[in-house]
Amino acid sequence: MTSAVRFQQVSRHFGQVRAIDGVDLEIAPGEFFAMLGPSGSGKTTCLRLIAGFEQPSAGHIQIFGETADGVPPYRRNVNTVFQDYALFPHLNILDNVAYGLMVKGVGKAERLKAANDALELVKLPGYGARRPGQLSGGQRQRVALARALVNKPKVLLLDEPLGALDLKLREQMQEELKSLQRALGITFVFVTHDQGEALSMADRVAVFNDGNIVQQGTPQDIYRRPRTRFVADFVGSSNVIAPDLMAALGGQKRWASLRPEAIHLAGDGIEATVEHASFLGAATRLGVDLRGSRLHVMLPAGAPVPDVGAGIRLAWQPADIHYMDDAA
Ligand code: ATP
Repeated sequence: MTSAVRFQQVSRHFGQVRAIDGVDLEIAPGEFFAMLGPSGSGKTTCLRLIAGFEQPSAGHIQIFGETADGVPPYRRNVNTVFQDYALFPHLNILDNVAYGLMVKGVGKAERLKAANDALELVKLPGYGARRPGQLSGGQRQRVALARALVNKPKVLLLDEPLGALDLKLREQMQEELKSLQRALGITFVFVTHDQGEALSMADRVAVFNDGNIVQQGTPQDIYRRPRTRFVADFVGSSNVIAPDLMAALGGQKRWASLRPEAIHLAGDGIEATVEHASFLGAATRLGVDLRGSRLHVMLPAGAPVPDVGAGIRLAWQPADIHYMDDAA
């Protein structure tokens, strides 16, 4: 099948800075794809390369099987939703949403109908006459989405679109974005530094570090089988166990990861000391000292919580130990 987006050994260098360096990437049509990584790891540069705001220093990009080399942004069938929404403050909401169609020369009646339909899609019918300044942050975010969707792009790029929203609204918008994407079948490519957001929304995730993709896979893959220490540390709250401790605990002398929820209290387990307990609502997270290393243990709600300072015994299934490729 033709990929929606394909990178072949794509690099983008700014002088000495290798913003991205030799990236291979395939995004399937209709996929919800997340680019996850710390600040400066190259996610936004990748998105801008897909949009056509940047050109590769080396390598090739294809969009739905056609070369994007030298193709300007407006001829790519790709739209971007920016983090700051980039709405025109002096235009009302309907004209903001219809703007792209006006530029393309679509007639007034047709473009206003399309803009109204798009506002309905993002659950803002009846807001067309307002100005951006008269909307909440969450509503402005929806307008930005409607403005991109009205062009019926084949690929929608979203650059931290929920970053400016408070937690509750962000969770609500995560669910809505996901449903909308399913309903429309458009390929969504989403940049975030929030691992929870990437894992909960995406069909597949690419983890970026230092201008490279260090792992790609389903959220379950990335979470349960991090390939490197960096991925284990960055994605989720995994315990990273050094080779010496792993060997002392009867395992291999290699770096390993172990999820806090895979550790439980057991009378015949390995001795540890409770140093910290945080009540999280649905669970309690313990910080424990195990032979000089700090590990986290997630206790399910309702389980008895040991006192700070208490000696406890911990156990896990050998299958929950995940050895990593390297110590990177
Ligand atoms: P953030 O989450 O902070 O947006 P990011 O992962 O999206 O980070 P990029 O914005 O892609 O990272 O930047 C990757 C690297 O390239 C950074 O070191 C950045 O400073 C550099 N960079 C990006 N754009 C330019 C530019 N126009 N000129 C010079 N350096 C740039």
